[in-house]
Amino acid sequence: MVKRLKNKPKLKVSAIKDGTVIDHIPAQYLFKVISILDLDKVKNQITFGTNLESAKLDRKAIVKVSNKFFKDDEINKIALVAPHAKLNIIRDYQVVEKRVVEIPKEIIGIVRCFNPMCITNHENITTSFQVVSTSPIALRCKYCEKHTAGDQIKML
Ligand code: ZN
Repeated sequence: MVKRLKNKPKLKVSAIKDGTVIDHIPAQYLFKVISILDLDKVKNQITFGTNLESAKLDRKAIVKVSNKFFKDDEINKIALVAPHAKLNIIRDYQVVEKRVVEIPKEIIGIVRCFNPMCITNHENITTSFQVVSTSPIALRCKYCEKHTAGDQIKML
């Protein structure tokens, strides 16, 4: 007879006291997310895991940032490469808030226009796009009307 374990092994959702856990990042975009959020430039404690198995994604990554609470415009940047990312806001080891990342209707700045002839690539003009599709992500430039989509999307 097989004895059952008294305590089921628990997945440690968070080992951080206060901060943000970003879950469901596509593994291939982990380092892009880190760079978009400027996490390579901060002094916060950051832990991450990658190539974790996920029911929703082939392989996912997770990032935990201590003492960091992201603003909406920062989250919008994540949405461009990790549209299904979920944020858990941790306070005193407890998840106090869950947020889903949403792709905004408009992207101001953040992304470079894919069209090399676009005025935004030649003059000091803030880029501006309308989101015409979210899956896959496609943006239409307000200046040249060309589409920038998928892998063409480069952050400024
Ligand atoms: Zn353009």
